Amino acid sequence: MKNKAKLPQRLPERIVKCSLRMRNIAAHFGALCAAMLYCTGSLCAGPFLSEAKAEALAAKHGPCAIVILDAKDCDILYLYNPAAAVAGLYPPGSSIKPFSAALIYDNKNRYGDILQYVTCNGKARVGTEGHPVYNIRKDAGGYYVRCSLAQGHGRMDMHGAIVHSCNAWFLAQVKDAPEEFCEELCRSWGLNRDFARAYRGVPSRAAAALPHLPRTAAQLSVIGEGGAVRVSPLKLAQMYASLFTGKPMIVPHEEDTIMQESPLPASSAAQNRIYAALAETVTRGTLKTLRPAGANRLQILAGKTGSATKYMQKYKTHGWCALHLKDRNGEYVLVVFLEDGNGQKAAKLAGDIIEAL
Ligand SMILES: [Zn+2]
Repeated sequence: MKNKAKLPQRLPERIVKCSLRMRNIAAHFGALCAAMLYCTGSLCAGPFLSEAKAEALAAKHGPCAIVILDAKDCDILYLYNPAAAVAGLYPPGSSIKPFSAALIYDNKNRYGDILQYVTCNGKARVGTEGHPVYNIRKDAGGYYVRCSLAQGHGRMDMHGAIVHSCNAWFLAQVKDAPEEFCEELCRSWGLNRDFARAYRGVPSRAAAALPHLPRTAAQLSVIGEGGAVRVSPLKLAQMYASLFTGKPMIVPHEEDTIMQESPLPASSAAQNRIYAALAETVTRGTLKTLRPAGANRLQILAGKTGSATKYMQKYKTHGWCALHLKDRNGEYVLVVFLEDGNGQKAAKLAGDIIEAL
């Protein structure tokens, strides 16, 4: 077996699951049988893109990575640009908020009160020490970061803060114990350890918390900013698979063996509450404009967007979109990472992918 130690920057890995199954079936029953099954579609349970379609989408939207997992067992169904999808490390921005919310919900005494309303006027207050990685501003009231809605979201609780992606609510929750929060977020969701397996010779990476974290950077981790928390698109897809389904975190894989990484790092009560908010995000929140055109077999159940400041660049952002999809064959997690863009642009790419699947 050849071991691809070095992959080109962009290598469309189309139909991962199907090609593997096809090889297995071909080995047992012959290539003709495998080809017949493939052509009738009976071999491919999961959604996938053709190489030409993926390249056309990347040409339209810019450099990107795409991950599709089987939501129930983290089987890797499709990867586009594995160098970025598996080994890349990027700040998650607001796409981390559901995981932050789970930790806050399950530790009500240590962090904020999830039912406590925070009034968002568009400026989210942060600690008094500035941080070079993120765009922190200052006015007469002290240091702040802007919320996603310039005029503010008004009164927000946890549910609303997820649906509308309100920075002010999240930053207020962890202002008293930011270092502890950041450490616990990384520990519980496996953000500071790599996956146990490499993907086809590409070392699978999670993220790394920076040592000696400035307090403000630790506080910003609650909204996926500040440089402390970084993830690969595959890692984020794994986390969403667990949160969407309420099942343990499984190591993403393309073989048949399933390996649990950890139990779901959230109580079922937290998972239920957060899932309800992610479902409403699609109907009334930041993803309400996501309406793929034409008849489509895939149903969008829940999702979250994220815009994340590029590492060490204050004014440029990445875009993220994570979706829970369903068809008659199963449930899927689609994670889209856009090198240059924001959450809304990533959502547009996700819409185009769903139309093309
Ligand atoms: Zn807000």
